[in-house]
Amino acid sequence: MMTDIAATRILILDDDPFILKLLQRMLANLGFSSVSSYENGEDALKLLDDAVARPDLILLDLNMPGMDGIEFVRHLVERQYSGSLILVSGEDERMLRTTEKLVQAHQIPILGYLQKPVQPEGLRALLMKLDLPSSRREDQRGTRKHYDAEAIRAAIESGELISHYQPKVRVATGAVAGVETLVRWRHPTDGVIYPDQFIGEAEKHGLISQLTQVVLKQAFFQARAWQKAGYELKVAVNVAMDNLTSLDFQDAVVKLAAEAEILPGKIVLEITESQLMGDVRVSLEILTRLRLKRFHLSIDDFGTGHSSLAQLRDIPFDELKIDQGFVHCASENETLRAIYDASLALARQLGMEAVAEGVESREDWELLRQTGCDLAQGNFIAQAMPAEALAGWMDQWHARIETESLVSSREGKV
Ligand code: C2E
Ligand code: MG
Ligand code: MG
Repeated sequence: MMTDIAATRILILDDDPFILKLLQRMLANLGFSSVSSYENGEDALKLLDDAVARPDLILLDLNMPGMDGIEFVRHLVERQYSGSLILVSGEDERMLRTTEKLVQAHQIPILGYLQKPVQPEGLRALLMKLDLPSSRREDQRGTRKHYDAEAIRAAIESGELISHYQPKVRVATGAVAGVETLVRWRHPTDGVIYPDQFIGEAEKHGLISQLTQVVLKQAFFQARAWQKAGYELKVAVNVAMDNLTSLDFQDAVVKLAAEAEILPGKIVLEITESQLMGDVRVSLEILTRLRLKRFHLSIDDFGTGHSSLAQLRDIPFDELKIDQGFVHCASENETLRAIYDASLALARQLGMEAVAEGVESREDWELLRQTGCDLAQGNFIAQAMPAEALAGWMDQWHARIETESLVSSREGKV
């Protein structure tokens, strides 16, 4: 939350004077006193052109005669508006979501949307996000910085990449079935850097194989350590299709597993398509051979452009991960719910286990229980953590299952 509420400048743009008054009153009740309101876009833009009075947040109506909300957003982009935005409209949820995506594509931080009639709790919830870069991540993620190929190469070579592990649990019993390995870069001066800031660059510059080797090795040896300590966990590693351009990959994985003395059946390879798809026949051959050796294959981010039905047709996957974009809030959004249900049904019909990603709330969890999804992963259960933290977390999780009544049957307790 922004530290100084009174100093936060807010602009409201809505052609309905009643709504302007209403929003102003709600904001005042929450302590926001520096609020200016406008009934049309042209007037509001004048304020934006005044560098001193630039707002930190704009509440924007979509449907207005004359300049509509979408056109106003275009003017914001031209003016390099750097504050945040909340959309307000009587349009249906799908329309609001589409517009939200559009605004995001322009890189304007959007806190979310409010459907008319606006409820004070809804407004308050969105304002809580003000100035919080990303409230869902395990640490507050720092500012985005560009890392070039050389820096990434050096990081791989000097051992600055470390693995964190996020639990996957059985929805029916709460049993901890496994973990997903998620790479982080412990940067000597910039702190922890998350993969979305360097995986793409690594793929572009042919560094992804080297990166994957490092992560596979850490994950396999960690799997071995957990096995020795008596934990029955499957360990998943993310593999980009780019890794599958040379037949050496198959041999490297088999060799590493042997060195770590870990059975292939304990390893899950989570596959995503990448932009630079090479020869598909080669990747098919590699995946089929790994499957023959009993490694488990998982199709990651299912339902996004990166993971398609064609892959399902061609590759013998054991597991389907429903992308987090279709899981979180699916219980209250018809469109998401339809996609979630369809993905789950597809997994069932093809004999795969379904994993719901991005389970963030109790409502999300209840939906999985109701619909019989096999596995769950997400911040509601646990964020990714260092390997050493896992045992402690498991104790807490088992306590939570009891106190919060998260499952009905307890036979699967680990
Ligand atoms: P992914 O494989 O789909 O991994 C799940 C991502 O969602 C992780 O982000 C995880 O921290 C995040 N997440 C988990 N629970 C929640 C939740 O409840 N809400 C939200 N909003 N997010 C949640 P992370 O660690 O930043 O990884 C991002 C992506 O980077 C991964 O997506 C994966 O595609 C890629 N990646 C991570 N590690 C590796 C790796 O070693 N190799 C390759 N090739 N890609 C990797
Ligand atoms: Mg994954
Ligand atoms: Mg995923």
